Amino acid sequence: MSPSIEEVVLAEPRGFCAGVDRAIEIVERALAKFGAPIYVRHEIVHNTYVVDDLKAKGAIFIEDLADVPPGATLVFSAHGVSQAVRREAKERGFSIFDATCPLVTKVHVEVAKLHREGYEFIMIGHKGHPEVEGTMGQLSEGIHLVEDVADVADVQVRQTEKLAVVTQTTLSVDDAAEILAAVKRRFPLVREQKQQDICYATQNRQDAVKLLAPKVDILIVVGSPTSSNSNRLRELAERLGTEAYMVDGPSDLKPQWFEGKRQVGLTAGASAPNILVEQVIERLRALGAVSVRHMPGVVETIEFPLPKGLKLG
Ligand code: SF4
Repeated sequence: MSPSIEEVVLAEPRGFCAGVDRAIEIVERALAKFGAPIYVRHEIVHNTYVVDDLKAKGAIFIEDLADVPPGATLVFSAHGVSQAVRREAKERGFSIFDATCPLVTKVHVEVAKLHREGYEFIMIGHKGHPEVEGTMGQLSEGIHLVEDVADVADVQVRQTEKLAVVTQTTLSVDDAAEILAAVKRRFPLVREQKQQDICYATQNRQDAVKLLAPKVDILIVVGSPTSSNSNRLRELAERLGTEAYMVDGPSDLKPQWFEGKRQVGLTAGASAPNILVEQVIERLRALGAVSVRHMPGVVETIEFPLPKGLKLG
């Protein structure tokens, strides 16, 4: 059998969110204003193409602040950093620009505020993800990570009267709800955020896949393996019974995936640039797709301001 693709259906919205747009722009403007090299702690966003493009323009990505020379300009990635990293960067005297997504900063601010009021925290998130390390690292103690429902039973808290829950911004909305329900069963007094921490971009991209996946024979997600929100989109489609693959770019597409498939859904994680979506569409056309259609969906208009010192004018 050979690929039998007729139509590509694009999820709306997909691709870059406001936090990713802002983070990339911060590095680009720092390069334009101060010249190369600009040091960036961790991948500015979890996308291979974006990171390689910025490397070519003069950005140097590091994990350890000891690898940054004195007096250099340093950008914190969109995922945010712990207080310890922030302190060390300041002590080393770098000129710092913070590309932490404002929606992650909002979680940090809430954690700090409730901590001053005596709260202890349960964080729902993925161990080892830099956003989780950054948020947990807002406090030196009293914040406990749960990755799934089973973890909830094992949490050891000092008290249950002042307990609050926070979540990573890029989780599966459905998984997070299930874990939160388990937290509430064990700790009925737990304080929830008035507005959930899972961000608008994660929610909208997952909602779009929920609409699209049942209507297509296969779903392709453009995103890098390290991208949390992209992985969640692929998992979601699979849970809905639709075969789904995540690709970093057009060369990852395998013709055999499309054997007997007529309708191909296409989306992109919040860190995947549109140029990759266009290249994937071109490849799908080469495999036989004759038309490309957009699903109706939410139009996102959110924009975040740049830090002082990098604004134009
Ligand atoms: Fe911010 Fe959400 Fe985008 Fe992450 S996915 S950068 S939290 S808007």
